[in-house]
Amino acid sequence: MQIYLDHNSTTPVDSRVVEAMLPFFQEAFANPSSAHTGGAIASRAIESARFLVAELVGTEPEGITFCSSATEAINTIIASTKGKIVTTVVEHAATLSAVERMERTGTQIVRLSVDRDGQLDLDELGEAIEGAALVSILWANNETGAISPIERIANLCASRSVPLHVDAVQAAGKLPIDLREVPIDFLSISAHKMNGPKGIAALITGGKARVKPLLVGGHQEGGRRAGTENVPGIVGFGAAASLALKEMAYHTDAVMPLRNRLETSLVDRLHSCWVNASNSPRLANTSNIGFADIDGDNLAAALDARGIYVSTGSACHANATEPSHVVRAMTHSYDAARSSVRFSLGHSTTLAEIDYVIDAVVLAVAEMR
Ligand code: PLP
Repeated sequence: MQIYLDHNSTTPVDSRVVEAMLPFFQEAFANPSSAHTGGAIASRAIESARFLVAELVGTEPEGITFCSSATEAINTIIASTKGKIVTTVVEHAATLSAVERMERTGTQIVRLSVDRDGQLDLDELGEAIEGAALVSILWANNETGAISPIERIANLCASRSVPLHVDAVQAAGKLPIDLREVPIDFLSISAHKMNGPKGIAALITGGKARVKPLLVGGHQEGGRRAGTENVPGIVGFGAAASLALKEMAYHTDAVMPLRNRLETSLVDRLHSCWVNASNSPRLANTSNIGFADIDGDNLAAALDARGIYVSTGSACHANATEPSHVVRAMTHSYDAARSSVRFSLGHSTTLAEIDYVIDAVVLAVAEMR
């Protein structure tokens, strides 16, 4: 038995997405840059997918640049910034490492702190963005699910003419995004978080904005990202984006009640058990729960032994011994971070699975305490 509650790390590829991708491995495998009919077929498939991805976030297809990962998209935008960058301490490692590298070569980086619920202070943001060349902020946190007030942040940045990049990797497909309504300059999203394939993502640049390519070579993606296109991946991304848009309500209608049941049952049945960022608006599928006097890694291992897959930090930190930088920044407590575990649900999660997980967690915590 396997109960997968690690959907914020990655999601299974939807079988309808696999079906859409299959022809592009063998029948329609041509290089989209080739002048022959085979190339034109592949190229048309890319443009159809670009349209579908654009639709998911309410923008024009011309603003979409396909790349290998959201990590690449984020690195591209940060590396092409000249001047002060404002971000937060709870960003994904892709942002934190990219700004750290810029800092080493002399760029001024401002990292804003967050409160107990993972929210930044908009007055502090307002002061920090004075003279900034870029603000880079998560739409929804991958570890806690905390949702940032992106519309207010975007309006603030726009009112001072400071470009804004939003890491929407966890938000896309789970929350409505309409770039026609919100003044966001750059957005990063990734297919594998929305039941699409791994290795394909998009940097969205709202049409006008020029970005310095990270990779140079051929003229793919309008010269914005060199390298032969991952055609099956792009087609899969388009299919996943289209399904995510159509089926978005599933998150609030079906996933949220299961997530809430998990939280209320654990908090009821266990003493000294709390939900991180509980007062914040949160993604419907994400629950980050702290268990006093428990080592989160040990609890995750005990659950693994019972066929339950969870996570104690972002996937990129899974082999590191440091506990979640996000929970630590919110609570200012190493122990609180050390004792926290993330449960992230998905389309396949069932009521029976959640009830099994609740019993397993209660038992494991009792044994460990
Ligand atoms: N940003 C957030 C919020 C994420 O959750 C992730 C992946 O975990 C990334 C960025 C990086 O995405 P990718 O795996 O496509 O590089």
